[in-house]
Amino acid sequence: MARLYLHLGKERSVLRRHPWIFAGSVERLEGRARPGDTVEVVSAGGRALGRAAWSPVSQIRARMWTFDAGTPVDHAFFKRRVAEAVAWRAAHPGLAGQDGMRLIHGEADGLPGVIADRYGPVAVVQFTSAGAEKWREAIVAALAAVTGCAAIYERSDSEVRRLEGLEPRTGCLFGVLPAGPLLIGENGVRMEVDVVGGHKTGFYLDQRDNRLCTSRLAAGRRVLNCFCYTGGFSLQALAGGAQSVLSIDSSGPALEIAARNLAHNPRLDAGRARWREDDVFAALRALKNAGERFDLIVLDPPKFAPSAAHAARAARAYKDINLCAFRLLAPGGMLMTYSCSGGIGQEMFQKIVAGAASDAGVDASILYRLSAAPDHPVGLAAPEGEYLKGLALRVSSAAAEPVRTD
Ligand code: SAH
Repeated sequence: MARLYLHLGKERSVLRRHPWIFAGSVERLEGRARPGDTVEVVSAGGRALGRAAWSPVSQIRARMWTFDAGTPVDHAFFKRRVAEAVAWRAAHPGLAGQDGMRLIHGEADGLPGVIADRYGPVAVVQFTSAGAEKWREAIVAALAAVTGCAAIYERSDSEVRRLEGLEPRTGCLFGVLPAGPLLIGENGVRMEVDVVGGHKTGFYLDQRDNRLCTSRLAAGRRVLNCFCYTGGFSLQALAGGAQSVLSIDSSGPALEIAARNLAHNPRLDAGRARWREDDVFAALRALKNAGERFDLIVLDPPKFAPSAAHAARAARAYKDINLCAFRLLAPGGMLMTYSCSGGIGQEMFQKIVAGAASDAGVDASILYRLSAAPDHPVGLAAPEGEYLKGLALRVSSAAAEPVRTD
């Protein structure tokens, strides 16, 4: 096994159990290693710190598999890690009864670069690091054995693979995809998942608990769901008794699935749902000009800032949509606003939204701070893994109070 020597002092983050070793921390590689090969990580003083996957083209030059220098990285290792990831979720009461669940969440499950989502009988995997790519067969075999899934489909078509020098890859790796639409039950609502052509692995599982939160707040309200994708928040709002739900997305194919999702749930009142294929930035302005008002608005935009480098432009986009949303809210209304940008932290997001509220001239207060569901955990040693943040805000009626003249 090749040995990766760190610069003096650079062992500190590894000792804190941070799984990434950046190019600037690497002093030298002793011996030969191909992309994805396991290397021994050694401090400048010669102390063995653990084992990592070598990735020569990536800025993240190595990702720790284990912080124990004596643990072999082999088939049995991946079987144990996969089994543990699946087992703790199966035993977690907050995830009980969900057909759709993230089974492996990369670094937080001790498997950097590995994502696995389960949708009923199908698991979808994504490998985004050289190390994960190297061990793909072991990981897929372990998943098949541990989950008993009928099929495992690969969606390694994420852009981040390029940073590791990996080509996109998709296709069935195990079993056969069931014929016809794949349906999952999420908190009492049936949703269709397109694992082959949908976004990410087909569905936004991370918003599961937040969609339920929307359902609980929706009764009697006029709801506007922006960036609705296949209608997850919209259907939960209907299930929660919303008076009406207007949903907007720019993707025609996503809206087609959304319409089918409504049909998959005949107990929901389809007459209360409207769908609009449009750009949210333009639609929000058009709704304002048309004099429309809503009592509950959901803003779940795509990642405006994939990294900190895009933060300034992203901040303007977040501010814009939040400002428009505040202007559309009826007094006493609620805004559930999200950012899934890794480049925008919780604190910055809150500041952006506060700026939007102030520009809109409204007083708002935070009722809930929202994050990804617990099947998407964040490693305490690697907080940059936290990407999804949200605020559930109540706008006070003060702005609508009549001006006193006495
Ligand atoms: N809330 C959804 C997930 C939203 S993902 C859920 O719970 O499943 C972001 C969505 O924004 C995608 O469906 C994408 O098609 C849409 N989108 C991206 N840019 C857009 C824009 N400018 N206007 C409208 N929709 C947009």
